[in-house]
Amino acid sequence: MSKHIVILGAGYGGLLAAQNVRKYYTKEQAKVTLINKYPTHQIITELHRLAAGNVAEQAVAMPLEKLLKGKDVDLKIATVDSFSVDNKEVALTDGSTLTYDALVVALGSVTAYFGIPGLEENSMVLKSAADANKIYNHVEERIREYAKTKKEEDATILIGGGGLTGVELVGELADILPKLTKKYGVDFKEIKLLLVEAGPKILPVLPENLIQRATESLEARGVKFLTGLPVTNVAGNVVDLKDGQKIVTNTFVWTGGVQGNPLVGVSGLEVNRGRATVNDNLQSTSHPEVFVAGDSAVYFPADGDGRPAPPTAQIAWQMGELIGYNLFAFLEGKSLDTFKPVNSGTLASLGRKDGVAIIGANSTPLKGLPATLMKEASNVRYLTHIKGLFSLAY
Ligand code: NAD
Repeated sequence: MSKHIVILGAGYGGLLAAQNVRKYYTKEQAKVTLINKYPTHQIITELHRLAAGNVAEQAVAMPLEKLLKGKDVDLKIATVDSFSVDNKEVALTDGSTLTYDALVVALGSVTAYFGIPGLEENSMVLKSAADANKIYNHVEERIREYAKTKKEEDATILIGGGGLTGVELVGELADILPKLTKKYGVDFKEIKLLLVEAGPKILPVLPENLIQRATESLEARGVKFLTGLPVTNVAGNVVDLKDGQKIVTNTFVWTGGVQGNPLVGVSGLEVNRGRATVNDNLQSTSHPEVFVAGDSAVYFPADGDGRPAPPTAQIAWQMGELIGYNLFAFLEGKSLDTFKPVNSGTLASLGRKDGVAIIGANSTPLKGLPATLMKEASNVRYLTHIKGLFSLAY
């Protein structure tokens, strides 16, 4: 009898699982339903470029229909309202429900606000192409406004959180602002481009010399860093920092962290701080017919130091691929493959022409053009892969 596989989310993990499962299962053997709230697969590692108008939307948001062409995947553009792993049921916000033989949970993460008063209501985020467009339009509007009113809050742009998301965004903004301000007859020197970070330094995942390099590169382009200063409260356009200073800004983007999708926490799956715990086959530790990929999962590598794998695109992508096979193996009673993540490094762009990275198992440091090219190559490699051209390239 034909099996039904339901995949929740078409980000890195979900899309790759959907594409890969078809290598093993024909449409007669298994029906695959993929549910996503947008009709596009979004390259979220490149959203900072869209937020600064440095790339076309089509480059970061690709029609899922095209990516799934010929794969016999039943694509449903819908929002998951809830799912119950004990009832084996998924409820969509349009009122419909689905049942499954095997489920893939790849619902990504949501922004973490850490209970900071006023933060969610008074900030923008960078989690989707729509968010990126909103930031770009907003920044341009504030500069246009500043040209007329000269209100300092319109000339102040604040990024909250100095992880990879915040730093890549500020780098891209530093690149475009001189041109954007010129367009409206504003002197770029009048703009305050600030990044506030709670910890003692930005990009704590990178070694000290690369942090130094990133800081200098961005400061030279007009970014001011406020480190060791957590945001403690936001009221309207006033952002309070721990030392008592207040930043008045009409542009505040919060990039202070992510947390598991709340739907996972109430689904009945065993969770650890809101993410589903998985075994080495990427099955839920409580429900073996449920596989979990990407930011929805918390996976502890066997050879790790007891810390979970970071919620990165490359891990999500690899998880999705493995799950594609394991769905087939599980439903057909064959032996499942073990997840062996390959960490190719961490690449941070600092605008269009600069970057810092650690590459490979030895964490070889790279900076400047080689890091920029490496980041571009890694994006091209991914796009080639999902567009199904990988085999033609070899
Ligand atoms: P993050 O959690 O890595 O960084 C958030 C930063 O915000 C931290 O440095 C934290 O100290 C700071 N912060 C938290 N609370 C704060 C407060 N109250 N005030 C000021 N600062 C505060 O989040 P992210 O940058 O969105 O990254 C999330 C995940 O995605 C990470 O695993 C990251 O590696 C990955 N990512 C990777 C890339 C890339 O590979 N180029 C790009 C973006 C994100």
